[in-house]
Amino acid sequence: LTAQKLLIVGGGIGGLGAALAAGRRGFDVTVLERAPEFVEIGAGLQLAPNATRVLKGLGVLDSVLDVGVLPDRLVLASAISGDELTSLDLRDFDQLYGGPYVVIHRSDLLSILYQACVSEPNIELRPGQAVVEVNPMSSTGGGVHVRCADGSEHFADALVGADGLRSTVRTLVDQSEPIFSGYVAYRGALPLEQVAAPTTTNDVMAFIGPGIHFVQYPLRRHTLYNQVAVFRSQRWLDGRDDWGTPEELDERFVPACDHVRTALSSIQRNARWPMYDREPLDNWRAGRSVLLGDAAHPMLQYLAQGACQALQDGSALAQSLATARETGSEVEWALETYQQQRIEPTARVQRHARIWGELWHADGLLESLRDVYLRDRDPADQRFVAPIYSHPPATESDQAARNLAGSTGNR
Ligand SMILES: Cc1cc2nc3c(=O)[nH]c(=O)nc-3n(C[C@H](O)[C@H](O)[C@H](O)COP(=O)(O)OP(=O)(O)OC[C@H]3O[C@@H](n4cnc5c(N)ncnc54)[C@H](O)[C@@H]3O)c2cc1C
Repeated sequence: LTAQKLLIVGGGIGGLGAALAAGRRGFDVTVLERAPEFVEIGAGLQLAPNATRVLKGLGVLDSVLDVGVLPDRLVLASAISGDELTSLDLRDFDQLYGGPYVVIHRSDLLSILYQACVSEPNIELRPGQAVVEVNPMSSTGGGVHVRCADGSEHFADALVGADGLRSTVRTLVDQSEPIFSGYVAYRGALPLEQVAAPTTTNDVMAFIGPGIHFVQYPLRRHTLYNQVAVFRSQRWLDGRDDWGTPEELDERFVPACDHVRTALSSIQRNARWPMYDREPLDNWRAGRSVLLGDAAHPMLQYLAQGACQALQDGSALAQSLATARETGSEVEWALETYQQQRIEPTARVQRHARIWGELWHADGLLESLRDVYLRDRDPADQRFVAPIYSHPPATESDQAARNLAGSTGNR
């Protein structure tokens, strides 16, 4: 059975990105989304070149650039002194990596993907469909079958679990729980004029310090401003029930510099996000179902890569499915090829994100050593980011799938 009809569970950035990638390659796609509408939270998102190359390939990068912001630099500064520690120049990224570095409001990106999906006649978007049961091989005809909370049933040739951190589809291959990092985030985008202390530069700022960090950047053509405050919850470590509260947020930022504390006064406090990840898996596939995005590889946000990797997953999956169709290979082959391409690089980013978080939040000797290193670092040095931002050039992954098709035949 080669795949023609795909079911995607979850209509976040990963699910809609995959739907568009597959729909543009002529597959019939149905996206089942639990929420009554396709929405994202009101906060910003950084999109590195590995994601903007995918968006370019999907034909939506111009729309993204139209509402996004092209920052000049990523800056790491001390949350305690406010002093700049190091920076990464982003302005030549189009030449260096074949895609720009963009910051965008999440709902702007989701609505661009949504509109692009709506304009493809072979993509059906179904909100209000919470998948509660998944059969990776149905008893009828060898395809996949899911049941939703309202009793409705859906059949397809292949199933993609893009249903996020607490994925239902993932339970086919893994029963573990997400791992709480002990860190909590408060975040949100505000009209620029309501922000207590915006920075004046066109940079993504990350103020890092012992057990805390604070991120700021402009959004939506500089009319909105994104802020994220993250702290290690001492109260959670102490076993208290009242952990991660706005009071603890204020307590934890007491040592921060004036700029960060002033900025903190205008952070949104109505919702908190405890930060989770999981250990990398070595298999995302069960029969004709496979995982993608946070369902497959939830990661801590310190490298700003979760959504970027999800977009890359969707592109790689659509390429594998298309190669299978061209070569007459089975669905299982396409899903296997996809996971062979994506598990190793996403696992690396998952692991590195944890280490990056430890460096950001270091104190004592490690903090001092880090700062010495960062202050001496050349802003043009791309060694840490190049493996992530340049992986893989689109044509290479296409070629890898073809090579695999040639070497394994039609299984
Ligand atoms: C503070 C913070 C900052 C971040 N910053 C960045 C950044 O700058 N850049 C970046 O690339 N990443 C960033 N990330 C990570 C990024 O947000 C996620 O990796 C990304 O949104 C994952 O997308 P997804 O589509 O895989 O999952 P989700 O966005 O979680 O979408 C899953 C969808 O599935 C639906 N769903 C769930 N269960 C079911 C079901 N049973 N049936 C039907 N539908 C279901 C949900 O309603 C949801 O719409 C950040 C994360 C955090 C927490």
